[in-house]
Amino acid sequence: MSQFIDTIIIGAGAAGLAISNLLQQDKNEFLCLESHRTPGGCAGYFSRGKFIFDAGATTLSGLKYQGPLSKFLEASGIELNLRKVDPGLIISLAKGDITRFSDQKSWIDEQQKIFKADFIPELWTEIEKANELCWKLAEESANFPPHNFSSALKLLSKKIPSKLRALPLLLKSFDDYFLKELKISQEYREMLDELLLISTQNTTRDTPAMMAVMGLSYPQDTWYHEGGMKGFNDSLLLPIKDQILFGHKVTSIAKIKDFYHIQTSKGQFKSRRIISSIPTWNTQKLLDIKITEEHQVQPWGALTAYFKVKLNSEIPLYHQVHTKGISHSGSGSVFFSFCPKDDLSRSDGIYQTLTLSTHIRYQNYVNAISESRDMARVVWKNEFLKVVQDYLGTKLLDIIPVGLGDPDTFIEYTERFNGLVGGIPHSMKRSPLNFSPKSPFKDLYQIGDTGFPGQGIVGVIQGAINLHQRIARV
Ligand SMILES: Cc1cc2nc3c(=O)[nH]c(=O)nc-3n(C[C@H](O)[C@H](O)[C@H](O)COP(=O)(O)OP(=O)(O)OC[C@H]3O[C@@H](n4cnc5c(N)ncnc54)[C@H](O)[C@@H]3O)c2cc1C
Repeated sequence: MSQFIDTIIIGAGAAGLAISNLLQQDKNEFLCLESHRTPGGCAGYFSRGKFIFDAGATTLSGLKYQGPLSKFLEASGIELNLRKVDPGLIISLAKGDITRFSDQKSWIDEQQKIFKADFIPELWTEIEKANELCWKLAEESANFPPHNFSSALKLLSKKIPSKLRALPLLLKSFDDYFLKELKISQEYREMLDELLLISTQNTTRDTPAMMAVMGLSYPQDTWYHEGGMKGFNDSLLLPIKDQILFGHKVTSIAKIKDFYHIQTSKGQFKSRRIISSIPTWNTQKLLDIKITEEHQVQPWGALTAYFKVKLNSEIPLYHQVHTKGISHSGSGSVFFSFCPKDDLSRSDGIYQTLTLSTHIRYQNYVNAISESRDMARVVWKNEFLKVVQDYLGTKLLDIIPVGLGDPDTFIEYTERFNGLVGGIPHSMKRSPLNFSPKSPFKDLYQIGDTGFPGQGIVGVIQGAINLHQRIARV
């Protein structure tokens, strides 16, 4: 006998937790089904003794310009325990380290010191203006980012003509819009490309300018939640903890007349509405129909490595270290995230947790493990270790390896098809009229990073806000 619930939410990652909290405010009847024992998905965590490691995502943003995170907190009444991280990022290039200050002038000065290029002040003034405009658009319209021609028109038709300024940002690549007339060095382009890979999953020549400016600007608005991602997830879980069932993996969905019948690993439910926060390529498997075109499936998985480190001095929390040191990786950099030494809720005040991550193309991963996954993992472990030792040098007093994550690990912990993480890459090939897949049924909605792809947690929270507005109008 199945239990009837008005709205079923699939998945308790950042997107599922966000929409659950928004529905809670409306006093809607809902139930969130999560296949694992803990929330978070790609923004999850795991413990080793006293130490709590962020498994994937580590940083939060979206408070500047009344961004998605601040809107979400206001709407849900949740209070987070955040500390501002400034500088938001250290970018370590062959030329030297660049500090990504949140203050725009300091960031421009810093780049000029290293690259000595005249175009930098104007370029970053324009990026900043465009970034502000884009987040305003996102805030004012449930159609952001546009999914098809009609949503693009709706998005831009509000408050014409100021919004028309955004049209070229939507239709041109970052390269065409911002860089074409400039003489930029290969190294400067590489820096921009690696920064964009973190967020938009794509590089300057193929990312629409609109999404690129948001991706490039996010390190100016970087926040750390006390307790890391566990702390963040706990804060979002608390108000809705009675409306989540853990250990319920949804295995199939059938639509019969006006209702959905949901089968999980532990029971059956019937609902009027489903909000799926798992990737569309997972949703389609549950429905047993095709809703995702091949070109919409993104190619990236992640390689991650976890260490306990003892340092001889305090260093900034987040670093993007440019290196070719990880074999088969499709990216030229490794992202370092340290927990603050003084966050005793997840470390011992002597050692700090360190999460490393880099992109790997799924096909490269398949090739790398074709002979032996165990062997490939040993190679990666050693390579990550070396990258840390080379980067930290004498600052590193001790390092203890804790574990390694690869696409198969992400399948195990997030269920994501082929372990593919990140959203659908932002690409000129499908922007703006052919982007996220459409829901095949009435009252079945898709959120998460294939609904609002490419900007991490802040993007999936904005996607949840947009959906909440849409369904409030239905
Ligand atoms: C290595 C790495 C580093 C990152 N770094 C950052 C960062 O620093 N900052 C940032 O903002 N973003 C970052 N991101 C991106 C960010 O983590 C994701 O965009 C975001 O967490 C996606 O959330 P989601 O809710 O859309 O999906 P998911 O996190 O995938 O959540 C989906 C949830 O659904 C559950 N689930 C799946 N299938 C089923 C099923 N059949 N039944 C029930 N439950 C199911 C999963 O267990 C999971 O909990 C990073 C991602 C990775 C992989």
